Amino acid sequence: MYKAKNQYLVECNHCGNKGLANLKGNFDNIEEYVDEETKVRSMVSITTWLFLECPVCHNGIVITHEYYGQSDEEDDDSFIKLIYPLKSIDMKNTPKDIKQKFNAAVKNYNIDTDICMIALRKVLEMICEDQGVSEGNLVGKINDLSTKGIFPQELKDCGHLIRRIGNDGAHSEVNKISKWEIKDVISLVEFIIQYLYEIPTKISNLEKKYEKKDLK
Ligand SMILES: [Zn+2]
Repeated sequence: MYKAKNQYLVECNHCGNKGLANLKGNFDNIEEYVDEETKVRSMVSITTWLFLECPVCHNGIVITHEYYGQSDEEDDDSFIKLIYPLKSIDMKNTPKDIKQKFNAAVKNYNIDTDICMIALRKVLEMICEDQGVSEGNLVGKINDLSTKGIFPQELKDCGHLIRRIGNDGAHSEVNKISKWEIKDVISLVEFIIQYLYEIPTKISNLEKKYEKKDLK
């Protein structure tokens, strides 16, 4: 990870921006290992906790800088780890185009809520198409998936709520859709992605793990 003076190159998982974030505060947690016989320090472990501010969304980011070695001097053994915020959902099994569109939508969260909402609706459309329903408007597609048994009642409600929050924002000329509303829509789209693409794989992996145990 690149480091400049009081700045660190990080990817902000609040808004998706990758860039230099400004250092706002830090402290060191130092642990020394001393040889009991010789009383000579054999090893030192220094964990520096750093609190950064994202230059785009102005939210906080926490990283640690760890060093293990024989002196207090930093060398190549040091490394940096992102502690907060970690990416909210695991999308290893989600179709690539849906995952890319979702990530692109989330990146617009702090830049333009309307663009973010349009992109999230597009993610919902893509999910419907991926599940075999491509005809008609979004209302029809969500209902079709429910009739086919692909969307249980909860997902149907979820889909319609996303659509309704989005419509409300699109029809209001004065107020843009708020950040709070967009956060809710992001969570609702995440529920659908988890249910359709991630949870089934997680369950089947666990089934494989316990196959040999011959559970009753
Ligand atoms: Zn940010």
